[in-house]
Amino acid sequence: AFIVLEGGEGAGKSTAVTVIREYLISKGVPPEDILETREPGGTEIAEKIRTILKEKNPREQLTSESELLLMYAARSQLVNCVIKPSVSQGKFVIGDRHDLSTVAYQGAGRGIPLDKIAAIRDLAIGSLTPDLTIVMDIEPEAGMRRARKRGDLDRFEVENIDFFHRIRNCFLEEAGKHPDRIKVVDAGQDLEHVKQDIIKTLENSGIC
Ligand code: C5P
Repeated sequence: AFIVLEGGEGAGKSTAVTVIREYLISKGVPPEDILETREPGGTEIAEKIRTILKEKNPREQLTSESELLLMYAARSQLVNCVIKPSVSQGKFVIGDRHDLSTVAYQGAGRGIPLDKIAAIRDLAIGSLTPDLTIVMDIEPEAGMRRARKRGDLDRFEVENIDFFHRIRNCFLEEAGKHPDRIKVVDAGQDLEHVKQDIIKTLENSGIC
């Protein structure tokens, strides 16, 4: 099965990955059958692409189109070399971000039309729908405070706060369109409640 975590910066996606891993283990899934991936990245080539995507180059700006193509170049490697083979062997893959991030960041954030994104997705990964996507929802201002605390303001330094509001709204809208497979967790709560909500979501999903 393929379980994906989505959400803005500072939402606590990596903590959620650990909660899911522990849940699966508590249900008797052997640790060697659980794989964690992160996007962009997750393979040797995809991690190199991640470096390019995260680089700050004052002399040359990455165009939105290049950003989109690099995201899908990385995802093509990850999906075809890791996710698809693992899922077909019956393993559990927990993804820290996946395709919905592109709809949110490059679509709603950067303004690339969704039909163009869909055409590139089709080429890069074909059809792959996560069995469950959990959107870790947080107000951008609150996410920014958390990011500042851990000293990783990164994206907040270069983008307008509206950019993050568009992304958040897009995640929520997509969850509204596909309530069966995209669930929202209020990531602004304290950690204990966030954990409980993730576990409840997993239990209700019937995934394991
Ligand atoms: O998951 P994490 O917060 O580490 O995301 C890595 C970076 O890539 C973030 O700064 C995020 O804004 C960016 N990103 C993006 N478009 C995506 C996925 C991630 O701009 N489709």
